[in-house]
Amino acid sequence: MDGLNTKLHDIYDEVARRNPGEAEFHQAVYEVLDSLGPVVDKHPDYVDTAVIRRLCEPERQIIFRVPWLDDGGVVQINRGFRVEFNSALGPFKGGLRFHPSVYLGIVKFLGFEQIFKNSLTGMPIGGGKGGSDFDPKGRSDGEVMRFCQSFMTELYRHLGEYTDVPAGDIGVGMREIGYLFGQYKRITNRYESGVFTGKGLTWGGSQVRTEATGYGTVFFVDEILRSRGQSFDGRQVVVSGSGNVAIYAIEKVHALGGTVVACSDSSGYVHDENGIDLGLLKEIKELRRGRMTDYAEARRGAAHHVAGRSVWEVPCDIALPCATQNEVSGADAAQLIDSGCRIVAEGANMPCTPEAVKRFEEAGVTFAPGKAVNAGGVATSALEMQQNASRDSWTFEDTEARLAEIMGRIHDRCLSTADEYGQPGNYAAGANIAGFIRVADAMLALGLV
Ligand code: NDP
Repeated sequence: MDGLNTKLHDIYDEVARRNPGEAEFHQAVYEVLDSLGPVVDKHPDYVDTAVIRRLCEPERQIIFRVPWLDDGGVVQINRGFRVEFNSALGPFKGGLRFHPSVYLGIVKFLGFEQIFKNSLTGMPIGGGKGGSDFDPKGRSDGEVMRFCQSFMTELYRHLGEYTDVPAGDIGVGMREIGYLFGQYKRITNRYESGVFTGKGLTWGGSQVRTEATGYGTVFFVDEILRSRGQSFDGRQVVVSGSGNVAIYAIEKVHALGGTVVACSDSSGYVHDENGIDLGLLKEIKELRRGRMTDYAEARRGAAHHVAGRSVWEVPCDIALPCATQNEVSGADAAQLIDSGCRIVAEGANMPCTPEAVKRFEEAGVTFAPGKAVNAGGVATSALEMQQNASRDSWTFEDTEARLAEIMGRIHDRCLSTADEYGQPGNYAAGANIAGFIRVADAMLALGLV
């Protein structure tokens, strides 16, 4: 807590006091404030006008009951959330997460991150996030549908293409978005495509949205490598997770000449020295909703499964955490550094703990933060909204080229901003400062609202 100047420290203290027990939210706020010292030194107005304090307080927070019947006819009750954090740049935009760990502190951390990420894309989107403590794992399609319909029966009144536009996140893929959008359409009697992103291609979705976060993550790392005259060719890469972001990160690493030798789920990891077999992984994860143990079983002899241990013990040149928050501890970071890892880029939101980030910085390992690295997902969501608004649809190649260009711009913006504020090469500082300035200036222009 000692890194902040007095004024920023006071703001942090106020956030911690007014939001008790929300550890992830405190962590996300601290991480941004920690970068803003040089900004408020240069522009004290941002403190004097209370724009930073306002940024830390969501515009609106919605918490609601979600009752539904399971297949045995038993009543289940979950809790739903939507935190509409900041709409200075555009409608609230950010995904929905269905996972048993979801509570207000997780949704607020994700919503807060989303403000700066969306700002960094340069697109007209504000920040928000939502979800539920519902666990889709092991539930039938019918149960997932009834849950989604009940969730949307409350949430619909808060949404709209000019108001709040959700998408997927952990536990929310195209199946869930279909059920949610279907219920929205039924209740409102409107085919309002622009109210949701991540839709299927036949019902208003965009090419490349499914791949966007993983592809964008790898495009960002490719920009880092290219800025040093290097490439993915021959690099060993470790990816955590085996969900949407992980799968498409693996696909793009392989396309660019690198090899992903390990990936994971919450029960352990698979080490496959000759490279993860992506066709098999997709079949197991996307079609069968299976586990990494099923993958290891199918690749017996070539790959092995290690239960209950961290994937970061596998040596690599580049690490891409693509699972969940705080999954890279200080000890994991030390192991990565010892094994020769030189670049860590966050495909997930806040997967590296503050201790891990500190170690990477001290060891001279390049660290690229989620709000820049994984911004390709929301950027492609904004492209989906553009296509919906113009009743148009673009080709895969065209959309992917736009994504690559956006990632290049975000990369350059991080570096040039870090330079401007005296922290050359510091991607985290560059992302936080560039994201902050755009949204803070819009808030000032809109008056005290
Ligand atoms: P998915 O639900 O598709 O996949 C999540 C993956 O992470 C699963 O393999 C899951 O394993 C694993 N995982 C979850 N919790 C843990 C844990 N505690 N330890 C180890 N593995 C775990 O989610 P996404 O791929 O969509 O999201 C992954 C991350 O990327 C999240 O941080 C999300 O916020 C972020 N993100 C996602 C975007 C998107 O477009 N989808 C956009 C930007 C960021 P298991 O099945 O065992 O739970």
